[in-house]
Amino acid sequence: MSQIEIGRLMCPTCGGESFEANQDRSYVNCETCGREFPGGLEELKELNMPEIEKAARSVAEDKLTKMFKKSFSK
Ligand SMILES: [Zn+2]
Repeated sequence: MSQIEIGRLMCPTCGGESFEANQDRSYVNCETCGREFPGGLEELKELNMPEIEKAARSVAEDKLTKMFKKSFSK
């Protein structure tokens, strides 16, 4: 497994942009949340349709907001 550069694709679960893949990219997993994409790069591309991209972004922002709130509430 090695880290791959796949351009603007991002994880639909966490919005992360770092992925690991096997050599032929038939299997990909997200380095950020550990989500696995058994369909590989093709599955990830499919999941990166605009609506999903938007949803993932808002999830990521929501997470960040919660993180900030946590660190300020101490
Ligand atoms: Zn992820």
